[in-house]
Amino acid sequence: MAFGTMLAMRGWSVRVHERNPEIREVGAGIYLRRNTLRVLEVLGVAAEVKTAGMKLERGRYRDGVTGQLFHDRPGGEGTAMWICPRQTLMQALERRARAAGVEIVTGSEVTGADPAGVLHTTLGSFEADLVVGADGVSSRVRESLGVTEMTARLPSVVTRYLAPTRAVGPEPYATMWWSGKRRIGIAPCGSDLTYVYMVCHETDELAKSLPMDYSTWSSSFPQLADKLQLLIGLPAIQNNYRIVTCKSWHSGRVAILGDAAHGLPPLLGQGAGLALSNANALATTLGADSALIPDDIARWERVFRKYADRTQFWSMHLDSTTNRWPKEMLMLRKPYLGFLGTKWMRTRMAIADRFPITPIDQRV
Ligand SMILES: Cc1cc2nc3c(=O)[nH]c(=O)nc-3n(C[C@H](O)[C@H](O)[C@H](O)COP(=O)(O)OP(=O)(O)OC[C@H]3O[C@@H](n4cnc5c(N)ncnc54)[C@H](O)[C@@H]3O)c2cc1C
Repeated sequence: MAFGTMLAMRGWSVRVHERNPEIREVGAGIYLRRNTLRVLEVLGVAAEVKTAGMKLERGRYRDGVTGQLFHDRPGGEGTAMWICPRQTLMQALERRARAAGVEIVTGSEVTGADPAGVLHTTLGSFEADLVVGADGVSSRVRESLGVTEMTARLPSVVTRYLAPTRAVGPEPYATMWWSGKRRIGIAPCGSDLTYVYMVCHETDELAKSLPMDYSTWSSSFPQLADKLQLLIGLPAIQNNYRIVTCKSWHSGRVAILGDAAHGLPPLLGQGAGLALSNANALATTLGADSALIPDDIARWERVFRKYADRTQFWSMHLDSTTNRWPKEMLMLRKPYLGFLGTKWMRTRMAIADRFPITPIDQRV
């Protein structure tokens, strides 16, 4: 929808096909980093999203057993700066897309695309100057183009809650708590909500059981015992992290965008951020000449792909510090995480924060 909106702002006519009967999101929070916010500004929805969200002043790591604060950085230095409920972001994008004139067809399942510029759906086939598959990690568009290099389910299982209280996360900080191969992230998400995510290895049957096994999580995170109690009985969303890599992000008049092209574990808070940033880059790379669209798309991938490739590398690396770190070396993990949190390392890892975002009336 964001990509469609940016094209519509440039005068294109755009149709979005969504397989679900309505546009909706899961009940969870989403971190909005510098590049993500810039794209929301270009779209004209940043103020609305910020009003429902929250600025995070600090990014912190704590020991889940002792509570020791072993990493603490101010919000400006590459950490997640804002957070909002996912549904708020999605509604703002949908309203903006409709206002820009984007046609949204729900209940329309895409089955594939043809590089000549044809989209195949359950409602029929449609010709276009440009087809963009932003259809997530299991992208039918990507598969039909034959450009998939690798898709994998990672062994990390994440369980997410959006608690209807600030008592779980009273401070305006994003805090990650570490305990063995388990991890809990907590951040307030607006004036009366707290976003909580709990990560464990998929072989950790107790930790991944739903409803939450309070005693196993509170024994790993005794400092959070009171807060975890507030999650009991709340709806939870659980899934494995996924990764997608591609031989190419395009073929002829078809491009793939977002998780379809570069699904990644969310440890740098950049999945949606990269999707939106690449959408902005593609929308501002395309020229007016329809005959040159395949060349424009190829240039877009050549120039901008490095941001996704490097972010994938570092988010995979961070994920493995949770579930692949050898038990007998755990005492070395805190200093290592502290090293990754130094400004020097953050500058390398948070490359997507510096993704160049272009106003719609300018061209890359
Ligand atoms: C636990 C977790 C936490 C995360 N936290 C963050 C975060 O804090 N910040 C951040 O930036 N990112 C985060 N992400 C990543 C972010 O959610 C994704 O990167 C983002 O949603 C990708 O957007 P997308 O539009 O590419 O794909 P999706 O969000 O998957 O959207 C794809 C859309 O296509 C539709 N669709 C799929 N197949 C078809 C079909 N065949 N026909 C028609 N429609 C179809 C789907 O219904 C859906 O509406 C997180 C991800 C996870 C799993």
